[in-house]
Amino acid sequence: MKFQLYKINANNDFEVICKGLAERIYLDGRFTIKYKGEEFETEEQLPDHSATAKVLINKLKEHKVINDFSDIKGIGHRIVHGGERFTQSTIITDEVFMEIKKMITLAPLHNPPAIAAIKAFRNIIAVPNVAVFDTSFHTTISEENYLYSVPYEWYTDHQVRRYGFHGISYRYITNHLAKILEKPVEEVNAVICHLGNGASMCAVKKGKSFDTSMGLTPLEGLIMGTRSGDIDPSIHQYIATETGQDLATITDILNKKSGLLGISGVSSDLRDVFASSKENQRSRLALKMSSKRIAKYLLAYANELDGEVDAIVFTAGIGENSAAMRQLVINNLKILKVDLDPIANEKKYDSEKLISSTRSILPIYAIRTDEEIMICTDTYNLTKK
Ligand code: ADP
Repeated sequence: MKFQLYKINANNDFEVICKGLAERIYLDGRFTIKYKGEEFETEEQLPDHSATAKVLINKLKEHKVINDFSDIKGIGHRIVHGGERFTQSTIITDEVFMEIKKMITLAPLHNPPAIAAIKAFRNIIAVPNVAVFDTSFHTTISEENYLYSVPYEWYTDHQVRRYGFHGISYRYITNHLAKILEKPVEEVNAVICHLGNGASMCAVKKGKSFDTSMGLTPLEGLIMGTRSGDIDPSIHQYIATETGQDLATITDILNKKSGLLGISGVSSDLRDVFASSKENQRSRLALKMSSKRIAKYLLAYANELDGEVDAIVFTAGIGENSAAMRQLVINNLKILKVDLDPIANEKKYDSEKLISSTRSILPIYAIRTDEEIMICTDTYNLTKK
């Protein structure tokens, strides 16, 4: 559980005054809080997300970040799955809370901890809680792109469709790109590659999500740290027959033991995969496969934008920091005449940098995403008096 505490100064200037991280929840609990340039790390009892929320709030008092709970005016939560219902961020009323609970079947791994945390925060402090959904940005995707080619009743009766994720990041990048390109957000067309442990891509048309690579769950699409991305759905049954494993176990393997980790056999962390790629053939293979998959989506999305792409953007842990991965992806775009400037690609930067060369038909950017500021902005806008 990550958190940031913002102070909103005059002129809507959002200042991060404290941030932190609760790790190893359910295990041996570790809590880190950064305040006034100092970092404090302690072992804590974190048996679940509800207890973690209580520890978090108490730590803010303990370190005198706040004097009183009433110093906090609103709490924003990142909710992975908002289904079709939540097209934008919303104050969490009892009814909204129940609706988010209903989404558990769609996001059994992600929504329950968020629900437990919301419940705990609502019990501790009497301030508005706001839900900011990772799916909302993608509710503009049209039927032809969100439906799967399965019986239509799977959609009408069971809500089987592409929902897409990382929407908070895509919204931030689209807004930021509009500023860089000096054009209104409604006119931005871009292909955005959000490459982290979880990775996805989005075709943004006229400032809105037009298509995205993750689907019903965050398992579809790109090759990720531990997730398989696109595979033949028959593999499930075949492996069940071959190994005797049940569906849940196989889905777990596709989520946690596949992707870069599964192919390389070394690590889910791209840095380890690159570091071992000289001597390890499987690491080289993992890099080749994942960069080719990104290139495949990139070409498809450029086509979906009718070739009218203002920019290609790389973001998140890998997209922001790995010049080598960016280069591998661009090398695989044979028919799109884009090119990187090797010096710009390697250069240190703060929030964004142009990395394409003058020969490139399109600008290519690396932009640091900021999901927290989007959550804070929505929370502020919905709760300010
Ligand atoms: P998530 O938020 O999905 O857990 P991140 O956005 O933090 O993931 O991205 C994690 C990935 O970013 C890891 O594969 C890690 O290796 C990669 N990464 C982070 N920093 C660097 C770096 N300096 N160079 C290369 N890869 C990096």
